[in-house]
Amino acid sequence: MLMTGAQYIESLRKLKTRVYLFGEEIENWVDHPMIRPSIDCVAVTYDLAHDPQYTDLMTAKSILNGETINRFCNIHQSTDDLRKKVKMQRLLGQKTASCFQRCVGMDSFNAVYSTTFEVDKKYGTTYHQNFLKYLKFVQENDLVVDGAMTDPKGDRGLAPSKQKDPDLFLRIVERRPDGIVIRGSKAHQTGSINSHEHLIMPTMAMGEEDKDYAVSFACPTDADGIYMIYGRQSCDTRKLEPDADVDLGNHKYGGQEALVVFDNVFIPNDRIFLCGEYDFATMLVERFAGYHRQSYGGCKVGVGDVIIGAAALAADYNGASKATHIKDKLIEMTHLNETLYCCGIACSAEGYPTAAGNYQIDLLLANVCKQNVTRFPYEIVRLAEDIAGGLMVTMPSERDFRSDLKVGKKGETIGDICNKYFAGSPTCTTEERMRVLRFLENICLGSAAVGYRTESMHGAGSPQAQRIMIARQGNIEGKKALAKAILDI
Ligand code: SF4
Ligand code: FE
Repeated sequence: MLMTGAQYIESLRKLKTRVYLFGEEIENWVDHPMIRPSIDCVAVTYDLAHDPQYTDLMTAKSILNGETINRFCNIHQSTDDLRKKVKMQRLLGQKTASCFQRCVGMDSFNAVYSTTFEVDKKYGTTYHQNFLKYLKFVQENDLVVDGAMTDPKGDRGLAPSKQKDPDLFLRIVERRPDGIVIRGSKAHQTGSINSHEHLIMPTMAMGEEDKDYAVSFACPTDADGIYMIYGRQSCDTRKLEPDADVDLGNHKYGGQEALVVFDNVFIPNDRIFLCGEYDFATMLVERFAGYHRQSYGGCKVGVGDVIIGAAALAADYNGASKATHIKDKLIEMTHLNETLYCCGIACSAEGYPTAAGNYQIDLLLANVCKQNVTRFPYEIVRLAEDIAGGLMVTMPSERDFRSDLKVGKKGETIGDICNKYFAGSPTCTTEERMRVLRFLENICLGSAAVGYRTESMHGAGSPQAQRIMIARQGNIEGKKALAKAILDI
């Protein structure tokens, strides 16, 4: 069954998800003005799947029964699937100018699918069967699943089991005949509140003493003992202002992160995908991170397309679009953005089948992709701010532009004065100019900067995490051999 966006939003209302924001429990979080834009954003992943022009990108065939499913629930069957994934993410970035949150589920499905197969082969466990059963449930109900990896980590110099507070990494606190009990948390979880389910994975390589921390499982978002504390974003309270519109920049969509707390949560045996096999923690982490680093070669590029478009509009509205330096800056932004896309496509095209049969991206190229993402969006944003001009951060509020308070000697209102002095090229209204500049403010340094700029740095792993992978995959010894062969050494 393919849900529509409206059905998805209604399905969230049925959950008893516990959400806290500004120190209070939020009962009706679905309609909360600070949360709703992030829900509407996920809803786009549902609505576009019903749009005939996007069927090829937005849907796939289930490996379980051949039924049409949303691509976000797909197990990649080819390099073509991997490329379509990136193209779908670029499309959604273009349509939402935001983080649409659903990719962490798709990336975790594929990592858990292949890893459980290999764990079972070594240990005779039944995790892969557990996961197939779970995948069927997810695909049949077209669910949003929050793939959750990142633990708070406490003292970064210490292993999970050596932390002063053992809860700083999520762990098994009790093993029962019918399942396990989990305690701990996952931090900065994208789309957590907007998900029907959570799929948990360990966060890093682990030793034997960390056995209780090497755990992967799935559970409903409203399971007993789970709650979320909402992550605030820069300028987020603008969303609470009455009739807020222009000042929001992106007044339609947004992203979302939260701290997810597991306060002794029971997980039944058939929802467990790893339970103490610490030697497989690395495989799960590398595969999930690899997929998510590929993802950034799609979503951030789509958002980049909107930023380039907004910068070009700002130039038009300033009457500056004919200046050669403006044209050159737009070329530079395009060059940077398409370079990121090249990396996303390349690591997909070079993908390979795992032992379980699904397709994994090329790890080196995916890590290069994400490493570039930690840099180029910053330069794209710098150029967008350059083109926009300082007005994007000094402009009066939309309430001033709409104010009918008389202030001038001829009876002009505050609105009249603002509209007179902030008028730009005759090709646009002052309000249209404001909209573009506020959008750039929002995405460069407002609430949307979480999903574009800072997420480009730290999402899917901070830059150093990619450098470790690049070092591992870079084959310096092989390259030395090449030099020696040429030089007869
Ligand atoms: Fe998807 Fe990008 Fe958001 Fe990750 S950051 S969930 S890849 S849109
Ligand atoms: Fe992300």
